Amino acid sequence: MPSSRTPAWFLPSLLAVTVTAALVAVPQAGEPAPSSSTVPLAAEQPKPAQGKTAQGKPGTKPRPDARDVVLAVHGGAGAALDRETTTPAREKAYRDGLARALRAGQQVLDRRGSSLDAVEAAVKVLEDDPLFNAGKGAVFNADAAHELDASIMRGSDLAAGAVAGVRSLRNPIEGARLVMEKSRHVLLAGEGADDFGQRHGLTTVTQDYFWTQARWDALMRAKETARGSKTAAASPEALADEQSKGTVGAVAVDGRGDLAAATSTGGLTNKLPGRIGDSPVVGAGTYAKNGTLAASATGAGEVFIRGAATSTISNLMEFGRLPLASAAYEVVVKRLPALGGDGGVIALGPDGDFDAPHSSPGMLHGYLTEDGTVVTKVFPDESPANS
Ligand code: ASP
Repeated sequence: MPSSRTPAWFLPSLLAVTVTAALVAVPQAGEPAPSSSTVPLAAEQPKPAQGKTAQGKPGTKPRPDARDVVLAVHGGAGAALDRETTTPAREKAYRDGLARALRAGQQVLDRRGSSLDAVEAAVKVLEDDPLFNAGKGAVFNADAAHELDASIMRGSDLAAGAVAGVRSLRNPIEGARLVMEKSRHVLLAGEGADDFGQRHGLTTVTQDYFWTQARWDALMRAKETARGSKTAAASPEALADEQSKGTVGAVAVDGRGDLAAATSTGGLTNKLPGRIGDSPVVGAGTYAKNGTLAASATGAGEVFIRGAATSTISNLMEFGRLPLASAAYEVVVKRLPALGGDGGVIALGPDGDFDAPHSSPGMLHGYLTEDGTVVTKVFPDESPANS
């Protein structure tokens, strides 16, 4: 269902504002990164909802976190970053990573590209950033290998594509897009998916491309923990790396009102070889449907699959008539924890309503509003859990 909003790029009077906001939001070397405290809009965000909803039901969230959002990204749920122990340089690196992804998607939207192209561009940037658990920087499985999952979905016709357990595609999200557009299938796994990507000209790499010291250390600690060792000590920064998990995702709405969503991950540290999480599963880790929402999830994949997380949010909106924030809250904060796992979702409606509920202590995420403002949230107190 097309949005009734007029895209910012049709409004010359807004151009100056957009450019100014972009200059404010993109940090120069040595300057502070954009944050929820330095960039407009964050301060205007409504307080977490308590009590009654728009429907009058107790305990559900009545309002979205932000409005007029055109693109949002996440960098994984978990502990996010600890304000006490995170160095300014590290905070900046995460904020810059999220902001770079948003700017890549914005470039697509600004030239009137599709939301599908925008989410793919944003996720690619995060896959290439070793800080995040997707593409370069992906976690190791129990055999010390990288097996990557990704999916992408278009809201206008429910077209979708996904790859699971790929080992050689540098950007798994490109593989997902390829499956969607060049095959009659939705999900390809393992060697077949790698071969399919390679045959269609995607860049392939050897496994060492994905290696990072932080993920290696996390695997070693996971192995020691599994053996019951008490010596698995880690620096707070390494632990944050591990706990923030780092799966990435993006959601967008374009000038035609079309929604799209994409998700990419290395999965869970020390997972069994062959394990596939929610990220490549349409309706669990990723979902987009014009008229309801675009959503990308992060967290305990098994629970997100069992709870059909993102499609359930859409169904609650379509059939239960819940507004986006209430539907997302119902699934992420109430239903999924009851199944035994935590995590979060970024959710964007066709009208620009955006919400990022999570039951994990934190969720790294950011969004871009119509006027070009970028907001990033990396500390738990910037986006409290269960709200
Ligand atoms: N949901 C991902 C998975 O289970 C992991 C994550 O988001 O951290 O594979």
